[in-house]
Amino acid sequence: MTNPAHVFAHALLAGALSMSIVSLIACDLAQPANDAQAPEPAQAPAGHVAAEAEPTTPTAAKPESTRAGRDNLPRGRSASPIVDGQYPTSYFPNTEILGADEMRITALGTGMPNQTKAAASISYLVELGNGDKFLFDVGSGSLANLFSLRPDFSKIDKVFASHLHVDHVGDFMPLHIASWLSGRYTPIHLYGPTGSRQELGTAAFVDGMRKGYAWDLETRTGALPDEGAQIEVHEFDYGQQNEVVYEANGVTVRSWPAIHSLDGSVSFSLEWNGLKYVFGGDTYPNKWYMQFATDADVASHECMLPPEAMAEYFGWDLYQATYVSTRIHTEPQAFGKVMSALQPRLAVGYHSVQSPENNAAIMDGVRKTYTGPLALARDLMVINVTKDDIVVRMAVVDEYVLPPDVSQAYKDAERTNEKSPSEETLKGKWKGYVPPPMSKKK
Ligand SMILES: [Zn+2]
Ligand SMILES: [Zn+2]
Repeated sequence: MTNPAHVFAHALLAGALSMSIVSLIACDLAQPANDAQAPEPAQAPAGHVAAEAEPTTPTAAKPESTRAGRDNLPRGRSASPIVDGQYPTSYFPNTEILGADEMRITALGTGMPNQTKAAASISYLVELGNGDKFLFDVGSGSLANLFSLRPDFSKIDKVFASHLHVDHVGDFMPLHIASWLSGRYTPIHLYGPTGSRQELGTAAFVDGMRKGYAWDLETRTGALPDEGAQIEVHEFDYGQQNEVVYEANGVTVRSWPAIHSLDGSVSFSLEWNGLKYVFGGDTYPNKWYMQFATDADVASHECMLPPEAMAEYFGWDLYQATYVSTRIHTEPQAFGKVMSALQPRLAVGYHSVQSPENNAAIMDGVRKTYTGPLALARDLMVINVTKDDIVVRMAVVDEYVLPPDVSQAYKDAERTNEKSPSEETLKGKWKGYVPPPMSKKK
């Protein structure tokens, strides 16, 4: 290991960061992990992973270059730029202006299909300094974490699905409706793989879903912006190898196959502005990930429970647990081997069942095969990425929140063909109640 940046990262990891990251999986959300551990607050106020040795130039306010990416903020929030790389130890959503060259990755779901309040199923939000936002998977339960960030929903319109397990796409239906109610007045775009048969692909998933909630969609027609109802499906060949599935505004997303359950699971990379984030779909360690995830700044990959812990958790026998943990998924030692070979600036493991015992088992496994920079993600972990630095923190959110006020464009967007119950049904209104007069229609 001769690269000074890597040496520095390792040194950090051996000291403060490893404690921070371990505690990310063991601490209470209400007590952000990084508060106590940073050894030199003047230089490392948050969980920095790999800073260059030379002092950074002040990144203070670049209001002109960041204005285009400004979000519509919730009431009561104002955002400030990060000055000289000095991040607060916790991330308070909508209080930081993302740097023009910066990427922010937020884990919205890191758990299992049987999600809990604290560990939703898989989803990651990626926000870029150019104002673009991307969701990678939107597993069941993850939508609540997205809402807790109070994002500008007019920009939450691109979802990339790694595969069609419900713990990866289960909240797509509620996202479609909830974002339409909360500021999105343009179509939502879903990028996802084909399956081995047509009925197992992303387009078939959306077709079936739309039929399944036809009643819901009709009730909102005319009351909400017409275009917000639309789902544009971009289905691509699951077998394609590092091919482009999205390209716009300087952002390129590519996909390659994963090995998991059935054909039709993939991984993605997102490249922008010289930064590369890799989102690994559920998979057995595969050659395509090893080939196409190279040079990742942040490489995320599943890191499932080891067989013994999985057997205990699900009540399975060890044979079944070993099969699922080591043949359908990637157990911690295998995750470590993948990351040792790839050497990303930060390795992110996720998709496990968090408990003190399980966390210890996962960490023991990973550390047998990988000693580099590591974050075992839990929900609402936030990673800020620039060319010089990677900072890992926890978000602090409120339990009861509203999204930002909708924009004028949302209010002005066309709404047609409003529906209501039939005359026959309306005749059943109880005469014992008289509603207040309607306000004037605009
Ligand atoms: Zn899966
Ligand atoms: Zn999964």
